[in-house]
Amino acid sequence: MAHSITLIPGDGIGPEVSAAARSVIEAAGVAVDWDVQTAGLEVARAGGNPLPDRVIDSIRANRFGLKGPCGTPIGGGFRSVNVTLRQTLDLYANVRPIKSLPRVEERFDVDMVIVRENTEGLYAGLELMIMPGVAQSIKLTTERSSRRIAEFAFRYAERHGRPWVTMVHKANIMKISDGLALETTRKVAPLHPTIELREMIVDAAAMVMVRNPNSLGVLVAENLYGDILSDLGAGLVGGLGFVPGANIGDDAAVFEAVHGTAPDLAGKGIANPTAMIQSAVMMLHHLGEKTAADAIQKAILRQYDERKVITGDIGGNAGTTAFTAELCRLVREIRETSG
Ligand code: ATP
Repeated sequence: MAHSITLIPGDGIGPEVSAAARSVIEAAGVAVDWDVQTAGLEVARAGGNPLPDRVIDSIRANRFGLKGPCGTPIGGGFRSVNVTLRQTLDLYANVRPIKSLPRVEERFDVDMVIVRENTEGLYAGLELMIMPGVAQSIKLTTERSSRRIAEFAFRYAERHGRPWVTMVHKANIMKISDGLALETTRKVAPLHPTIELREMIVDAAAMVMVRNPNSLGVLVAENLYGDILSDLGAGLVGGLGFVPGANIGDDAAVFEAVHGTAPDLAGKGIANPTAMIQSAVMMLHHLGEKTAADAIQKAILRQYDERKVITGDIGGNAGTTAFTAELCRLVREIRETSG
């Protein structure tokens, strides 16, 4: 039976990379009924809300979404589409595996995971102008969200055979907010006796991520630290074209690359679709389509190892379409030889 999945093509390079992900899923033999829902800048330009209710309703009904990056108009009173989507659907855990692919960025050999709290911190949207010339952002931290993100990180570590979780914080300065998150994580740790809890201050974690990233294992952090460290992680594995992501809640999950709309590349057919395709691979695992997910992952490894058809961000000259066609060919070949 076909899976029903909401597809949000998004803005900038979003339509190009999401079309690539769709083709690869098809090549892997997974039947999907795509419910295509537009959101973002184009929708706002046509005079609407950049995140209409129909998009939220579609994801609620299907429980799974694959999403390209969405821009938010500057001014106009709209909140970020990405942040609003995560908060409205309570997609509290943002999972970003940072893993090196062969022959992409040979200075580093990375295999770690970032679990970012997705609904609170400085992204809670609590900003105000106290008086002319004085602005304030409130960093919201609750025990409930600190507990559930810690629980998620430990369960992820258990399921994926990763022996430790590193809680990244700045509780030495933000003693109350980060202090609460740290204390709560310490209370969750004993419930998962096979997983070790490590703790690290965020600035130290930034350095360790460059020098010895794998020592961090599953890194769990509040929203802003997780956001910044994710881009640092992308830098370690070849750039933003490589890091996939999943936004997971109790009732729905939306899969999307870490990168944004990349307006400098939009419409040129040169974006690297790997991050989006790997986000689709994460989605296939959640859908129970392990054989298809493994075939695509194997094909990606082979394509980078061969380094014949690669995109401009890592020195190749293939466009998005040629890259995707080659990947689909490899996926079919892998399916034929293994089936
Ligand atoms: P946004 O405001 O939507 O987050 P941005 O331009 O600030 O967008 P990104 O879109 O994440 O940030 O990307 C920054 C730069 O990284 C892009 O301008 C582009 O040069 C490069 N980049 C991002 N994604 C890709 C990709 N998939 N393939 C190749 N290069 C990419």
